[in-house]
Amino acid sequence: MLNIILFGPPGAGKGTQAAKLVARFNLIHFSTGDMLRAEIKAGTPLGVEAQKIMAKGILVSDEIVIGIIASQIELNAHSNGFIFDGFPRTLAQAVALDELLNSRNMPITATLALDVDTAELTKRILLRGKASGRADDQNEETVKKRVQEYVSKTAPLKDYYKRQGKLHTVNGIGSMDEIFDSLCNEILIIR
Ligand code: ADP
Repeated sequence: MLNIILFGPPGAGKGTQAAKLVARFNLIHFSTGDMLRAEIKAGTPLGVEAQKIMAKGILVSDEIVIGIIASQIELNAHSNGFIFDGFPRTLAQAVALDELLNSRNMPITATLALDVDTAELTKRILLRGKASGRADDQNEETVKKRVQEYVSKTAPLKDYYKRQGKLHTVNGIGSMDEIFDSLCNEILIIR
């Protein structure tokens, strides 16, 4: 099994690279952002709750996202491996993910961190918002808040994975294909 966490700030290109990695290595893609947007679209109570929080650029509660991930792991327990995109984003989520996977004997193989200068991110996301139509990509205050949330709550997880010897950093600046090649090379070394 190959279980990869694709790590990086908002706007680092995790979603794009995750889609390419899934196709190359035959993995299942778990994006908590996509899952939450699906709940919003379906108009579920969880979606209604999440929408208000996401519009402010702050993180949805650990309880909600851990619950979603737990049920998805359960449903896909016999797959070739997973790629986690946008999860975990807090220490509590990282600990819960390790518990979920270790108890099934399918631990995280590696965390691949896309290294992108946070100063560039706000510009990139606002540009993406024009094409994607995503509400939280179009409001400058929301975007800034998301980057702040990343710096304060998510970036510290790099140490958590470094202590486990699982952190691999990849340059996130360059063309889509260059970054994809760097990620693939890391995976081929690790597995
Ligand atoms: P990006 O990586 O560009 O921020 P995502 O689609 O991953 O985009 O996330 C969009 C929003 O969804 C986040 O700002 C947050 O409110 C919510 N969200 C997604 N994943 C998580 C998570 N693991 N924990 C808490 N909130 C999350």
